[in-house]
Amino acid sequence: MENEELINKTKILLVDDDSAVAGMCKRVLESNNYYVETVSSGRDALAILNNKFFNMVLADIKLPGDMDGIALLKEIRHKYPSVIVIIMTAYGTIETAITTMKEGACDYLIKPFDIHILLNTVRRSLEFCRLKSESEVLLNAISLFEFVSETSSDKTEEELLSLLLGNALKIMRANSGSVFVYNKITEKLEMMTCIGMEEKIKKEVSIGEGIVGYVARSRKTLILHNGLHKYPLFKTYPPRKEIVSSIINPILLKGMLLGVLCLNKTEDTPVLFSDEDKRIIKMFSNYAALVIGSFQASAELLFLNRLKSEFLSNVSHELRTPLMAISGAAELLDDPTPSKNKKQMLELIQRNVQRMDKLVADLLDFSKMESGKLIYNFRKTRISNVLNKLIMDFENEFRKKEIKFIRRIQEGIPPIVIDSERMYQAVSNLLTNTLKFTPLGGEVELRCSKNKTCVMVSVKDTGIGISKKYHDKIYSNFFQVDGSSTRKERGLGLGLAIANSIVSAHKGKIKLKSEPGKGSTFTIYLPCSNAMESLRRTKS
Ligand code: ADP
Repeated sequence: MENEELINKTKILLVDDDSAVAGMCKRVLESNNYYVETVSSGRDALAILNNKFFNMVLADIKLPGDMDGIALLKEIRHKYPSVIVIIMTAYGTIETAITTMKEGACDYLIKPFDIHILLNTVRRSLEFCRLKSESEVLLNAISLFEFVSETSSDKTEEELLSLLLGNALKIMRANSGSVFVYNKITEKLEMMTCIGMEEKIKKEVSIGEGIVGYVARSRKTLILHNGLHKYPLFKTYPPRKEIVSSIINPILLKGMLLGVLCLNKTEDTPVLFSDEDKRIIKMFSNYAALVIGSFQASAELLFLNRLKSEFLSNVSHELRTPLMAISGAAELLDDPTPSKNKKQMLELIQRNVQRMDKLVADLLDFSKMESGKLIYNFRKTRISNVLNKLIMDFENEFRKKEIKFIRRIQEGIPPIVIDSERMYQAVSNLLTNTLKFTPLGGEVELRCSKNKTCVMVSVKDTGIGISKKYHDKIYSNFFQVDGSSTRKERGLGLGLAIANSIVSAHKGKIKLKSEPGKGSTFTIYLPCSNAMESLRRTKS
């Protein structure tokens, strides 16, 4: 109960070395239901403010030690901007009044004062500050409302982020700032918009590079004051001399990094950023996250739409080609043709039926995978058996394409828990791609090795390679680097999606190393111990 009462009381810190004045003020204020503590120097006042919250500080202008009332007032304005300060002075000149108000005091009391003046001044200041903060909340709400109503307009991502940055600068009393957006493909933070900054500021940074990169990595709000020389982490980073205070915050959505918001105050602003500003910059960062996230989601939607149309045209093409071949051969069979031709025609029909069968099987597997209905048959197996079967089945295909097929299967790899048929399918999809994308005379290497934790199966080719910007898309359903209907190679863009899903079901991962013109290496990492054993127990 006592604590609850304390929470509801206005807390006042009295700073005066004149114990008679301090005692009198304390008595009067306490009897009017305020909570009061007293200290006798500026340093003691700062020490207590560091640990405890006070609504108001009543400080004498003349204090013992190296910190007088004005110096204390300045410190409080910088560090605890929401604390109300009233200065008591025995020098009731207009100059001292002007100085105290200029430095941010809410009011001043001329000593000696009677208890009515003391109580009136305290009440007036509290009321004034309450109204001020209410009007600020209202202003913030209006400008945020204006911003939110703009998000439904047809403004671009850059325009919306500029608008948001402008609002953040206004509300947080900052003079310059920038918004960096994280580019997943280049893995860099790119400056999308800035206000009040020179052109020469770096437009692109890596995670961990400089201040913006540091915040992106640590994912925590950072406040810096007065130059960078005193921060060992950023000492070598070129300082921007005009900045006296900065606040930098990561832009996150559901734990994912989307960017970084930076705000700066230059010399002409009296109040530095404080811990209280962290809450406000987080709110702006959340809005920025919604803007960036919604633009990314619509880009994703466009991408999926493109894949859908490409898939439909591919699937019709892939079905029509063998059907045309079958119908052509069937027509010829109807003719009285010599028996040698008949055999060729039958083989052609068989080949094309197989091709259609594989296509339909892929589609069925894919739909089962999507709905989680694909059944795995996990058994402890030697992976070399699976790979040797693949080698036998593919050897001829590589020979026909004059591709050198190199196999490096490490001897003595102990059995691991896998579904042999599905693993065959995953590696077969990778090998099929090398056949499609490696030109005549190239090389393909199938390698298998083991380390302490994993068995690694890699498929390396000297083919056309894949640009880095597609590396995270390559396993998406229906994705093809060249998705045009005029592309040379067959396929539905499902091979890697299926391989990836099979490897994930084995609690493994596929990694790609590739550059255009420099070939590709797909490596499957399969855990060899406990994780796999648990698969066998739960799924087989
Ligand atoms: P597809 O049936 O079209 O081959 P995949 O899912 O197997 O579908 O592959 C998706 C796309 O990835 C391919 O269309 C191709 O653009 C690219 N790709 C896959 N493997 C390779 C490779 N070894 N070399 C070059 N590009 C490849």
